[in-house]
Amino acid sequence: MNDRERALDAAHRRATEFLGTLADRPVWPRASLDDMLSAFDGPLPAHGADAADVVDELAAKADPGLVAIPGGRFFGFVIGGTLPAALAADWLVSAWDQNSGSSVLTPATVAVERIAGRWMLDLFSLPETASVGFVTGGQLANFTCLATARHAVLARIGWDVAEQGLRAAPPIRFVVGADRHGSIDRAARFLGIGRGELIVVDSDDQGRMRADALERTLADGSGPLIVCLQAGEVHTGAFDDFGRLIEVARRHDAWVHVDGAFGLWAAASPALRHLTAGMEDADSWATDAHKTLNVPYDCGMAIVRDPADSIAAFRTGGDYLIYSGLDPWDVTPELSRRARGVPAWAALRSLGRSGVADLIDRLHANAVAMTTGLRSIAGVQILNVVDYTQVMFRVGSDDDTRALGAAILAEGTAVVTGAEWRGHAALRCSMSSWATTTPDVDRTVQAIRSLIDP
Ligand SMILES: *Cc1c(COP(=O)(O)O)cnc(C)c1O
Repeated sequence: MNDRERALDAAHRRATEFLGTLADRPVWPRASLDDMLSAFDGPLPAHGADAADVVDELAAKADPGLVAIPGGRFFGFVIGGTLPAALAADWLVSAWDQNSGSSVLTPATVAVERIAGRWMLDLFSLPETASVGFVTGGQLANFTCLATARHAVLARIGWDVAEQGLRAAPPIRFVVGADRHGSIDRAARFLGIGRGELIVVDSDDQGRMRADALERTLADGSGPLIVCLQAGEVHTGAFDDFGRLIEVARRHDAWVHVDGAFGLWAAASPALRHLTAGMEDADSWATDAHKTLNVPYDCGMAIVRDPADSIAAFRTGGDYLIYSGLDPWDVTPELSRRARGVPAWAALRSLGRSGVADLIDRLHANAVAMTTGLRSIAGVQILNVVDYTQVMFRVGSDDDTRALGAAILAEGTAVVTGAEWRGHAALRCSMSSWATTTPDVDRTVQAIRSLIDP
């Protein structure tokens, strides 16, 4: 074997060993950042080392600081695991080393991504002609869609952002729900729209934007308008009422954007599709593959109804670049990038239409089972309507709830993470991993039960 083959062999062996520990290792890392910094500390070595030895050293030192995200009992934030086909395809992406911005330079990976994008549009019942830009995640997908929106709503009134910039531009009314994800505010900030300029519409007890409130908000004002809706509130999993809200927004000539980082996937399940009803009438949609679709980090998608709007916002100059129709670099802020859509293709190819639906249904079923299990523990209060993948709960006081959260992490069986909901501490359980089994849910409920009632 040559050096490269021995290094790849070492990576394969170390990766398999790590994945083999997932069933039993504590889910939260045993080592802190300081522990990890001291493990890796020291000056840059004067001389190099054998490639396989480097891989072995890296894996051995990192192990205690790894969090068991790909296992079946990581329920923190909203984080998926990794399907086998997606993981293996991701290795190929690195081996191929394709710079996937241009369809002339890298036709294989551009084609695979384009087909993956089409399959997703089909699963979501979105227009087959929409542009699908592969970006690092939901944050950049929201940014990409909203940058496109900003360009389009100003273009409609004769203002060219690419030419004239933003400083003298007519103001954009940027309308968001009270329970939007923080990445919307951050995307707005990058686009020159400050927090104080956001027009915030009230939401209901599950975090859904109120249609009557949107109606009132839009009635007083005029000019370029962007309305941000949400499929899947990050704590409750709730979906906005797209049918009513989009109808209101349309009357005011708004660009409607949907943040569906994990919620858009409900559209791929015949049983859960009703949650997303009406969202197909929006102008842009942001979603993730590294959450619900379970591909390795990182992969998100910025979907825009009319590719001409994407090109207007993003096509670059650069006389040395090769153009041919619609290239990946025409629809996102990226230029050079890895072929991060390829693992998404592999995930979809390995699941098929029925497998995607089964995956989403199983995540929902796990959320229902977790809810039933937690409800059976005296003192646990479930805080949301569990109609998708998110379960939020609390026990006793805010301090009790936070203490339980810390105890769960220390105990090691599972990871749930904390939140503030309506002014009180809460714990969140996100069912986002393909690897979660019924026994994983039962073990987690048992562990939480013994922490509450030792
Ligand atoms: C996770 C999430 C985001 C951000 O996505 P990243 O992949 O972390 O960049 C945006 N919106 C919602 C609703 C999310 O759940």
